[in-house]
Amino acid sequence: MILVGVRSYQTLVAIVSFICRHCGVHGPKRIEKIVTKFTLFLVPLFPLSTKYLATCVACGASTPVESQLGARVEAEQAASPDTSTPGPGSTQWQQPPPSGR
Ligand SMILES: [Zn+2]
Repeated sequence: MILVGVRSYQTLVAIVSFICRHCGVHGPKRIEKIVTKFTLFLVPLFPLSTKYLATCVACGASTPVESQLGARVEAEQAASPDTSTPGPGSTQWQQPPPSGR
């Protein structure tokens, strides 16, 4: 019997402040990267898809983030490892438009 499947791995990429579309609070949002990986015998082998989510700290609502934008935020965080003091102004964040879902 061959045990194959998929599994999602969620990692925090950055914390960015913008106005939440759900609760209207201007506050930090957790930008998380969700990688779905193909697994064989429960061992992750290679990624099938990558997507980004912005989760509001105030109300907990999650908003999908465009892959390009998420990748850019991730690259900026990698370029400037000083993430201990995330503050507004460093990243010009634009909330993604409604996607219908
Ligand atoms: Zn909110």
